This record gives sequence, C-alpha cells and structure tokens, in this order.
Amino acid sequence: MPSVAAAVARPFAAIPEARRKQMGLLLLAAAALLFPLYHNNDADIDSMANAAAYASLALGLNIVVGFTGLLDLGYAAFFAIGAYVYGILSSFQLQPDWSSFWVPFQYLGLVAQMPGESSGFVVHFTLSFWLALPLAALVAAGCGIAFGAPTLRLKGDYLAIVTLGFGEIVPIVVRNWASLTNGAAGLNGVAAPQLFGHSFGVNATPYYYVAILLVGFLVFVSIRLRDSRIGRAWMAIREDEIAAGAMGVNRTRFKLLAFATGAAFAGATGVLYVAKLQTATPDMFGFPVSVMILVMIVFGGIGSVWGAVAGAFFLQLLQSWWLEDLTGWLNSLGRLVGSRWLAHIDLVPSIELIFGFILVFMMLYRRQGLIPAYRPPSALSFEQQHAVVQRGFGELNLPGLGGSARPGVTALGVRGVTVKFGGLVALNGVTLEVPEGAVVAVIGPNGSGKSTLFNVITGLVPADAGSIRFHDDEILGLHDYQILAKGIARTFQNIRLFPNLTVLQNVLVGQHARLRTGALSAVIRPPGTRREEREADAWAMEILAIFGNRLVPRAGQAVSGLSYANRRRTEIARALASRPRLLLLDEPTAGMNPAETLELAEQIKGLKGLGLTVLLIEHKLDVVTTLADTVYVLDHGDVIAKGTPAEVRRNEDVLRAYLGRNAQAAAAGEVGTEHVA
Ligand code: ADP
Ligand code: MG
Repeated sequence: MPSVAAAVARPFAAIPEARRKQMGLLLLAAAALLFPLYHNNDADIDSMANAAAYASLALGLNIVVGFTGLLDLGYAAFFAIGAYVYGILSSFQLQPDWSSFWVPFQYLGLVAQMPGESSGFVVHFTLSFWLALPLAALVAAGCGIAFGAPTLRLKGDYLAIVTLGFGEIVPIVVRNWASLTNGAAGLNGVAAPQLFGHSFGVNATPYYYVAILLVGFLVFVSIRLRDSRIGRAWMAIREDEIAAGAMGVNRTRFKLLAFATGAAFAGATGVLYVAKLQTATPDMFGFPVSVMILVMIVFGGIGSVWGAVAGAFFLQLLQSWWLEDLTGWLNSLGRLVGSRWLAHIDLVPSIELIFGFILVFMMLYRRQGLIPAYRPPSALSFEQQHAVVQRGFGELNLPGLGGSARPGVTALGVRGVTVKFGGLVALNGVTLEVPEGAVVAVIGPNGSGKSTLFNVITGLVPADAGSIRFHDDEILGLHDYQILAKGIARTFQNIRLFPNLTVLQNVLVGQHARLRTGALSAVIRPPGTRREEREADAWAMEILAIFGNRLVPRAGQAVSGLSYANRRRTEIARALASRPRLLLLDEPTAGMNPAETLELAEQIKGLKGLGLTVLLIEHKLDVVTTLADTVYVLDHGDVIAKGTPAEVRRNEDVLRAYLGRNAQAAAAGEVGTEHVA
C-alpha cells in the first residue's frame, strides 16, 4: 500500500513545498465555494454551515488550549455571550420606552421606533449582523479578560475547574435572567442578516458562505499569530512557564491575550449561529458543547490550525451525515440477516458514546491527532552533520552583545541578600559583586544555595532581606520578565527549554523582550514587522553560529530530539539572543564530556572577549580556573571565601566545606584537578 501512495505522490514531489501548499489551499477554497452549486440540498448545506461554525469555535479554543496550553472546559460560555449580544440587539426581546435618547441611535440604524403595546412608542433594536460580528467579538474578548484576570494565575487542574464553573454559570444566568434573554424558551424573532437590501432568510446557502469566509479568516489569523512573536510567547508558556518568564514573556498578559483572542473567535461565531437559527436558547451553550469543541481539537491535533478545522468538520459531519447513513445500512443489514436488534438500531443518539470511543482510540494510537502540529524532524545527513560553519569569534557578526565594558564599574551588586524557605536559610546575607566585563564564578557543595542565588537575582524567588542593584537600578522585587528586559539572562541547572519548539524558535523566544510586534501587526504584517522578523531570524542564526556546526544544521529540529550537550548549548544561545549585559550560567558544562567542556569554556572565553559580563556556577574547578577572574565560595548559604581561583584553592575553609573536616589534610592535594562535590 505505501508504494501506491508513494507512486501517486511522486509527480508532486518535484513541486516546492510552499507551492504545493498554495495549490492545496486553492483547491480546498474552490471546493468550498462550489459546494452549494454542485450539491443543491439545503439540509446538507446547512450541515456544512454548522460544521464551519464549529470549525471557527475549534480554531478559537485551539489558541487557548493548543497554543497556550490553558485547559478551558467552559469555552462555550463565550459562544453564548456572542450569540446573545446579537440575539438581544436584533430581536424584539427588549422594548424600552422611546425617548429622545434613542434618536442618535436611530440615525445610525441601530434602533427603530415602534408603536408600543399599550400606548406611545417603544424601541426596537436593529443591530446589523455585520456590525454585530466585530462587536460580539469585542464583548466576548472583554468578558474573557474580566474572567481571566483573576483566574489565569491558577495552573493546570485548578484553571480547568474554574473554567468549568464559568461554563456552567453563563447558561444558568441566561436561563434565569428572563427579562433579558427570555429564559429557557429562548429568544425569538432574531433578525436574519441583510446584504445589499436582501435578507438571508431561511435558505442555508448564504449562511454557509459567511461561515466558510469566517473559517478562512480565522485560519489566516491563527496562522499569522502562530508564526509571530505572539504565537512564540504563547507556545513558550505552554512548554515551560518558568522559562518563558525568565526569557522575558509577561505570562499574565499573554495568557490574557490568548484567552481574549479565543473568546473573540467564539463571540463572532455566536453571532453567525443565532442569525442562522434565528433563536437562541441556553442549552445550545452547555457543558457538552464545550467538551465537543475540545474533542474536535484533540481529534484534529492539539495546537494544529488545520487540525482544528479538520476535526470540527469530521465530527460534525459524522454526526449529521454519516451516522444516519450508517444507521440506514445497519438497519438494511439487520432486515437482510433477520436480526431485530440490527434492524432497529439507531446510532445518532449515541453520538457522545461514539465521541468517547474516538477519543480513546486517538489517545491510544494517534495522540498527535489527524493533522499533527509538529512533524518529526528528518535525520541529518552525514554532510549536514559535518558541515563546517566554525568561524572564529572575530568573524561572527554580534553587534550589541557585550558591548563596551567599563573596567572598575560594578555591573551587579548583591548586598546582604537572605532567602529562607520555611526554616531553611538558603542564602544568609550574601554579598557579591560582579564588575563589568568580568567572569565571576560561584562554587560550593550541593545545596549551598548557588542556584537560589541565581533565582533571587532573576526574580524567581523573593528575598527576605537585602538589595540587588544592576547598574543603577534596584532589581529586587521586579518581575522575572522585567529583569530580563533590563539585561540579565540566565540558563537553568536542569535545562528548561521549550521541548516541542525548534532550536530556532527557542532562540527567537529569547529575543521576545527585544521585539515589538503586537497582536495586530502580527496579523497584518506591515513592512516593519516583516523586517523585524527577518532581523530576528538573522540574529538567531548568528548566535547559533557561536557553537560552530553543533546547532546551525539543527536549527529546524525540535529541541526534544537533541543531545544533552546540544540542549545546553541551545539554552545558552537562547539566553544570548536576548542581548544580555549580564549572563548567568548555572552549571553550563554539567553532563558534558571533557572535550565538550573544553569547547564550551573556549566559547565562554570568546563571549568575555566581546565584553559580556558573566556570572557562572560551575562544579569543574579546571573550568573555573581557566575562566574566572574572581571566585566566590558558598557553603550553607554563607560566602565563606572570595578571591582569585588560585587563592580560593588554597583556602582552608573551602577545603573543609568541600571535603569535610576530617578528610581535609588528606585531600589537600586533590582539590583543583578534578570535579569537586
Ligand atoms: P545548589 O544550587 O548550591 O546546589 P540550591 O540553591 O539549589 O543549591 O539549594 C539550596 C537549598 O535550598 C537546598 O537545601 C534546597 O533544598 C533548598 N531549596 C532550593 N529551592 C527551594 C524551594 N523552592 N523550596 C524549598 N527549598 C528550596
Ligand atoms: Mg544548583
């Protein structure tokens, strides 16, 4: 079988991939536009319009769950909000008494004057469908922000439960606020859209076209956002929140943006949906709807834009077309073989059971969904692996990295910093100074507080006392992303990359704080944004070239498939991409063999040569000796020694801390040649 597929695919293989994608897109668009013409069946066109509406919802939820990794179980609430915004403002539900207040709105065509039931005139709301689409999107986005602001600090399960609650609250409010929504009976007389004076009426075809255009627009927006600074920030949050913050992503803001964008998609879809049905009832937006949309994106491939569309169409059409057909066939089969059970079986009511089975099968056999968001990288060829891209540091084009170090000026001044975890004093009044352009090393036994020192400098843990000044600013108390923006970038002892993103994407996230693109320019992509992206790519590749041919040939590969040493290098590259003035490296050579360690030490030396200031935690004393100007020794949260590497090696307290009081004499000769601690 695979050979047949290969034979079919062969003539297309010569066409460049971008062109093939364009052709596929064109065919798909043509088929979608022609469908009502060659398949002139109103019920089927209506099913397709419904499927397209669900595809729009799935695209919105995909931004929240797929891109940003926030599990939202109450997404249909935003669908309801959009639906009722249009439903209420275009029906006879609200009829306040007419007054001069409404005159300007009458001129705008938003309301009309209507004779009241008893006497005088009342207001009839006549909001246009086309105006309602963006308006409902805005209202839903506003609700998304209002709901998200207090809750998005919650993670994982907690967030899921809160969204579940929200998804329940909205239909309940709708059901009980009868004066506004007409309760369970539903709105009636919602106006059909008008275009050039013609009403859409009850024919499904115009709704189908609007729905298809909406899907096309939302696919476009999704893809543009995904491939931008915004999408990278979202995916960084999904992959590793702490690392995202440390690389300059304002997590709260970007989570809210994702929530609001997803809500906006649902709000606009809600308008289309009620306009088509010309009614809205609370049970159109309950928990099963949220779950169904979630199943659609899981089925299509979490995080995959086309997957969300495919999943929505497949499951909707399964429900409205194929299950009926299948039921018919099974019934005929039952009559044929004389089985009463088969002859009367009806699959349509068991749709939720069937969804359940589909979900279980997908999780067991194809977790990445119909159209996976990430393709497994192809293995590198021998030539690629051995391509020579090694350039000397002098040949690299790294303007702005390091810059001019002024000797004698303090870059980082840590004064009397104390960090306590409950009863444990991890740092006890630590004072430390990093001069500009220097490499300062921090050594000490395991658990002595070295990583905690990095965490407090980068805003990951709060300090109980002390001060940390970076150049002229106090940075203690700032958020992690603000500290990165000031010019302090770090790596983590236990590598924290964004595993499903490529090497290049990881390094691009490192530039987050240095790029300006907002959500709107990410979608519109004006020339300034294009230039920024081009420059960001070029800068990322230049940073990768610091590591010779280790990372450059792998720029397009997912980080999860890299070797340990290459992941360490990627993490350093990501930190460097943010153009730091101070680089914090937490045990950068851990897990590297001696040759790799030597190579990395050379590269760090090269960075120092560029004028970059480095604070380094390192266990291998030979590395410390070759690199560091000054060494601080921590033990149980105290600085027990400070000096040049040679001075520190001879220090009695240091020997004692590392080797224990008894072994001190015996081991005096060994320290300094091998790994310590
Ligand atoms: P090092 O990097 O020198 O090996 P750490 O800074 O990681 O040491 O840890 C110093 C001490 O603080 C250890 O005893 C560790 O268990 C404790 N510690 C570190 N982080 C936390 C935390 N988030 N909560 C509680 N204790 C912590
Ligand atoms: Mg540590």
